[in-house]
Amino acid sequence: VKRLRLILGDQLNAAHSWYQQQDDDTLYVIAELKQETDYAKHHVQKVCAFFAAMQAFALALQTAGHKVLHLTLDDTTKYQDLPALLTELMSQYQISEFQYQLPDEYRLRQQLSLFCRQLPIPFMAFETEHFYLSDSELKDYFSQGKKHRLEHFYRKLRRRFDLLMQGNEPAGGQWNYDAENRQKLKAADFAAVPTPLTFTNDVSDILSRLKRHNVKTIGLAHAALLWPVSRHQANELLQYFCRHCLVNFGRFQDAMTHELDTAAAPVNGELALAPAPDSKVEQVTIAEYKKQWSLYHSRLSFALNAKMLSPQHVVDTAIATYQQADGAITLAQIEGFVRQILGWREFIRGVYWANMPEYASLNHLGARRKLPSWFWSGNTKMNCMQHAIKQSLDYAYAHHIQRLMVTGNFCLIAGIDPDEVDAWYLGIYIDAIEWVEMPNTRGMSQFADGGIVGSKAYAASGNYINKMSDYCSGCQYEVKQSHSDNACPLNALYWHFMQQHIDDFKGNPRTRMVYANWLKKPPEAQQLILQRAEYLIRNIDNL
Ligand code: FAD
Ligand code: SF4
Repeated sequence: VKRLRLILGDQLNAAHSWYQQQDDDTLYVIAELKQETDYAKHHVQKVCAFFAAMQAFALALQTAGHKVLHLTLDDTTKYQDLPALLTELMSQYQISEFQYQLPDEYRLRQQLSLFCRQLPIPFMAFETEHFYLSDSELKDYFSQGKKHRLEHFYRKLRRRFDLLMQGNEPAGGQWNYDAENRQKLKAADFAAVPTPLTFTNDVSDILSRLKRHNVKTIGLAHAALLWPVSRHQANELLQYFCRHCLVNFGRFQDAMTHELDTAAAPVNGELALAPAPDSKVEQVTIAEYKKQWSLYHSRLSFALNAKMLSPQHVVDTAIATYQQADGAITLAQIEGFVRQILGWREFIRGVYWANMPEYASLNHLGARRKLPSWFWSGNTKMNCMQHAIKQSLDYAYAHHIQRLMVTGNFCLIAGIDPDEVDAWYLGIYIDAIEWVEMPNTRGMSQFADGGIVGSKAYAASGNYINKMSDYCSGCQYEVKQSHSDNACPLNALYWHFMQQHIDDFKGNPRTRMVYANWLKKPPEAQQLILQRAEYLIRNIDNL
């Protein structure tokens, strides 16, 4: 062996040009590492999913005739970090050339670049060949500190990749169908919501390994992991989405409900659960897995971010489904989906790379409070928060609006430090990798970047939650009230936030009406609301 090629846990792209030729002089290394399990406190399902997917990928490469070294935590525990492991392997296998794919995370890109600088042998970094835009092209679209807007970028990419276009114009004459989408889910809609397709990947060995190596995790451990861990499973999930969810994707994209938690028909059989290292372990039945917790969302983010699926493949498959559906799937649904992947996903990545490393410490609104302790348990009387957090702990998943308008909104209007918010999001979600987590959290949801990602702060009162969900009817708080003892906390916190940042937001045309409403309130009413907000902030751990 002469050449060592490193494959990181989120570089499981079987279509990469590296694998087109089989070569006995090339050793592929894929390794579980403590530095990766420990840089954040991750959800146990997330660690299991990455490790299981890495194992499956190593096996697939081996089966295809490549030389692969798959190392588990047992093998790598004696190395302090990735460079230490690589140094040892290079000497052990007498490596004369080192190659790697460009990491999507700043932390790892720095680490490998520093490592290479002192290498006595030739090295080379490759593109991951995953995104629509190559790494080297990002600078043509994004520049540091600039307030880029999704819509402009998205239209450029629609044209460039000729997706949903009629000549130079968007199919159907419109770029955006938001007005037709984003409906509330009503009781009459419940029966049609598909049961999520889940897998039962045995990860009991991985769980034992995490325990053996004292890896600290959060969330509920499932010995039968429900997330896809191979390209085959990821494709099944994609097919399932196209068959059952795409038809209503945009329509119910922002909807939230707790009703469907108990609506699933029981399925026979129980899944044994191995004890997780540092997580609460509960008996989870298949019936519980089958709840309709993800509504019409695809749950493809993990498969995409680990690069088991390419964004092109996902978008092309969805568009082909739309075209073959003969009008049964509307343009508004497919456009909404393409916008997320071609638009948001590529946009977020561009913002990340144009602004790192400074982006990681932006705190435009000067938010300094600590995250309430119930973010780690879901034990809060606020029904919306309880639901979003418990679901996140159980499945390592919440959909976009739960992340943005429930947990994210709370942190924004309560003035939680973006470092704390970032750490929580980076740990808890199955798909959380810094390049996509951070601009979404610090930028879009916390406005800590002062508007680089989004043109306004996504701040909302209980009214928004009431409009888009059925949480409020089952809540101990009263959504229509703002300063009584059991008034919805979001109402007072919202006004408190808007008042506090009046200089930041009053000039924004999108918030002008809000301030007009606030200033119309008599001063005594404003005072009562602000006092209630101060009380809530003082008692934030007990809401
Ligand atoms: P669907 O609703 O089915 O959407 C399809 C796909 O579109 C997703 O799989 C995803 O790849 C892409 N997508 C949609 N919205 C976005 C977005 N805003 N940014 C990037 N891609 C998007 N996404 C992550 O992949 N990792 C994260 O760590 C992450 N953190 C987030 C934190 C916050 C505060 C917010 C508001 C959003 C975050 N998102 C993150 C974006 C989005 O919420 C998730 O991609 C989505 O919920 C994943 O579920 P899904 O696959 O069912 O998505
Ligand atoms: Fe959430 Fe307020 Fe509604 Fe309760 S009343 S569910 S806290 S928005």
